[in-house]
Amino acid sequence: MKDLTVAETRRAIASCRAETVTHAYSGEPGCACGCKGDWLYMQQYREHCGKERGYPVRDDEVDDAKVKLVTGRAVIASSWVEDRNVNGWVDKSGFVNFAVQTETMLYIIGTNDRSFA
Ligand SMILES: [Zn+2]
Repeated sequence: MKDLTVAETRRAIASCRAETVTHAYSGEPGCACGCKGDWLYMQQYREHCGKERGYPVRDDEVDDAKVKLVTGRAVIASSWVEDRNVNGWVDKSGFVNFAVQTETMLYIIGTNDRSFA
């Protein structure tokens, strides 16, 4: 894992498209284990994401439409939150992930963007 700078993270978010997203988390801030929200996955990246997290993605965790919806919300939120509420990193596959936090929501988006690998 490699952390991105705020500028890099904002650049990655700006280039994020529905076609580049692999998975998305949306929930209340505080914990991202799943107790306060849901991790959802794109069908196309189901197998990849299962390997990445260490156990298979279940049928009920695959929801392309919801992943795209959450990504849209995260991108919009990123446009008005302060820099300290935006974080980006490169995961072990070399893919860009980013998190956006508001007072009430935490979004984490996984992409297939390898431009920072
Ligand atoms: Zn938790």
